[in-house]
Amino acid sequence: MKGRWRKLYGREGRWVDGGPASSYLHAMALLPIIETPDPRLRVISKPVETFDAELKTLIADMFETMYDAPGIGLAAIQVGVAKRILVIDLQEPDPEDEEGKRVIRDPRVFINPVFSDFSEEHSVYQEGCLSVPEQYAEVTRPAEVTVDWQDADGRHHQERMTGLMATCIQHEHDHLEGILFIDHLSRLKREMVLKKLAKLRKAA
Ligand code: ZN
Repeated sequence: MKGRWRKLYGREGRWVDGGPASSYLHAMALLPIIETPDPRLRVISKPVETFDAELKTLIADMFETMYDAPGIGLAAIQVGVAKRILVIDLQEPDPEDEEGKRVIRDPRVFINPVFSDFSEEHSVYQEGCLSVPEQYAEVTRPAEVTVDWQDADGRHHQERMTGLMATCIQHEHDHLEGILFIDHLSRLKREMVLKKLAKLRKAA
């Protein structure tokens, strides 16, 4: 699980098969992902109040952008839109695929998500972020959380999240509050990550 997060966020994550279906590609757009230290990543996103066609287009574009990156989660602010919208698809391996290459697509959208009832138990995952490219670090978060949210039509839902979904939705929700996963690290570790990122950019 630890490795999978790394794989999905890293360049080597290209193993994720089943790229975007060309038949509907023309209807969607890849959006530029903003990266740290872009100050927009520190903005607190605003609740979505209008559930219209424009919102659905943005959500479709966010999924397209996330799959292309590739990633397993994306918050609207990462494409410069300060609205409380998250898209997540864990793309777990298909248990029926013996080669272990095929993944199951399960696209989920969470609008205006609210957390409650965090578990006392914590879990640790190696996290990465499309806005902090190619950097990874272990982050400790509550292992379970209850989430209330709205879908693209404004309908309300509630679900208890566990495992990688619990971690991923907490990581993405942080973006709505202007928080990055590196903020959860010690100052020393955070500086190390940012130094490595600066080196990577210099080399590029
Ligand atoms: Zn992120």
